[in-house]
Amino acid sequence: MNPFKKCPVCGGELARKEVEKLLRGGKHTAFLRVCAEVCLHCGERLYTEDTVRYFEKIRNKLKNEDLSEFQPLGQSFEVG
Ligand SMILES: [Zn+2]
Repeated sequence: MNPFKKCPVCGGELARKEVEKLLRGGKHTAFLRVCAEVCLHCGERLYTEDTVRYFEKIRNKLKNEDLSEFQPLGQSFEVG
């Protein structure tokens, strides 16, 4: 189930956590919560292959303006 045992960056312990992720595709961004293995030492996040594929799917939908299954969450702005 868990393909990761140690952090590949620093060798630290990993803990399964729910994390917030921001995805960009074209001019849109999507905000989601997913489970990731998070390094307790350096904060590196490791996602399973399925989660990475899911991110790709969402990025493509954003890029293609296929937004029907997303709920609007206010506006996003660029500063500077
Ligand atoms: Zn680490």
